[in-house]
Amino acid sequence: MNIKYDVLVSAQEISEKVNTLGAELTELYSGEEVVVIPILRGAFMFAADLIRAMDVPVRVEFLGVASYGEETVSSGEVRLTLDTSFPLHDKNILIVEDIVDTGLTLAYIQKLLQSRKPKSIRSVVLLDKPSRRTVEVDLHRTLFTIPDKFVVGYGLDGPGGFWRNLPDIVALREEMENTHSE
Ligand code: 5GP
Repeated sequence: MNIKYDVLVSAQEISEKVNTLGAELTELYSGEEVVVIPILRGAFMFAADLIRAMDVPVRVEFLGVASYGEETVSSGEVRLTLDTSFPLHDKNILIVEDIVDTGLTLAYIQKLLQSRKPKSIRSVVLLDKPSRRTVEVDLHRTLFTIPDKFVVGYGLDGPGGFWRNLPDIVALREEMENTHSE
């Protein structure tokens, strides 16, 4: 397929920021255990790199959500496709998310996990599209702020569920935009 795109964030830039964040989190959680919760599916690659940059005892639990149905804008009605498998009560939770757009998906996830009475809860997000925010969300760190463009690569999918394996984060040109994302 002849895809047209522009590189927004290179693999090299991603790697540097992820490693810096890993070092920060190592310091922050020093002496503590952390339950890292990547949000499937888009955050799997970011989380895989991030946990290898964290030198603290880490467990990984997955949460799956489908935030986009037929529509190209988030409805806020998030469907849970996979839940965590052990009690999160009194645990340090680190939510790892690919992108915050309207904020509705992450707000839903934070509320859900907060109801399980963790010791602490923080969210780290790879990409931030602040211009589209409709709800306030508590973000511990966002790595890159991007314009309101549909992006794929480094775990994020595009048309047909493809393009997650691109090492860079790229913006699809207008004619390619056609979202379905989980
Ligand atoms: P929100 O609920 O914040 O509007 O949407 C967040 C979710 O929408 C993200 O977790 C992601 O799955 C999806 N999403 C938002 N923008 C993009 C984008 O540009 N590319 C891709 N692949 N997914 C996106």
